[in-house]
Amino acid sequence: MHFHILTLFPEMVLHGLGTSIIGRAMRDGFLTVDARNIRDYTTEKHGHVDDYPYGGGAGMLMQADPIMRSYRALCEETGRKPKVIYTTPQGRLFDQNAAKELAKEEELVILCGHYEGVDERALELLEAECYSIGDYVLTGGELPAMVMVDAISRMVPGVLSNKESGETESFEGSLLEYPQYTRPEIYEGLRVPEILLSGDHAKVDRWRRDQSLLRTMERRPDLFEKAELTKEDRKFLKAFRESREDAGGPKNACISDGPVLN
Ligand code: SAM
Repeated sequence: MHFHILTLFPEMVLHGLGTSIIGRAMRDGFLTVDARNIRDYTTEKHGHVDDYPYGGGAGMLMQADPIMRSYRALCEETGRKPKVIYTTPQGRLFDQNAAKELAKEEELVILCGHYEGVDERALELLEAECYSIGDYVLTGGELPAMVMVDAISRMVPGVLSNKESGETESFEGSLLEYPQYTRPEIYEGLRVPEILLSGDHAKVDRWRRDQSLLRTMERRPDLFEKAELTKEDRKFLKAFRESREDAGGPKNACISDGPVLN
């Protein structure tokens, strides 16, 4: 998969993505990421890429022309016209489903805004799809672009090794991942749940599923509503609710040390 980032800070994006698993995937040829400096495409004699917004108001806006020139240069060089994503707090929420959808593309352009954003006409001309990484405002689109490239890349075949497989991760089937433990068996008096040491894979799988259900129910009720529950899941949840009622009411938030219900 090929990512092209249009930004005023290419070094930020390339340094951030060049390390760890994504960096390895780039070196191994599963991904390419290039970052193009929009400033290189301005025709303004002082190298400016921003100007005051019409109608007044605070801050500066990125002008449409250098953005369009940088995109058109990319299209000319590659001979293609890839889909454009614009990172903005006003966009559709970028979640795991969005990452999965976007991973189907062979090539993506991500436009990073700065200052107060970009001239709306650039977005119109680029037919940009707008994505937000959350309900907060960041200084620029570089961190969102890095977040998106990372999450999308994890779905690209070959990027994760078998050991790092994403199949059982949080959000699969609208559930959060179960709690996990590694050596030692006892740490500061806290024991690894017995079932994980039992070697009984079917029981371990059931325990993990149950913990995923409880964890999602407690921490992300919005997600839990979308989860597809099996007959076994419903049976477990019914038993859990009844045991909770018997114990005199709901348990408190974090359930990683919750009931071992095997
Ligand atoms: N004035 C804009 C608004 O109110 O929607 C915010 C501009 S923000 C200071 C500058 C740039 O950061 C945006 O153009 C966008 O590219 C990026 N950005 C900020 N917060 C973001 C978020 N939550 N998700 C995606 N991009 C974001």
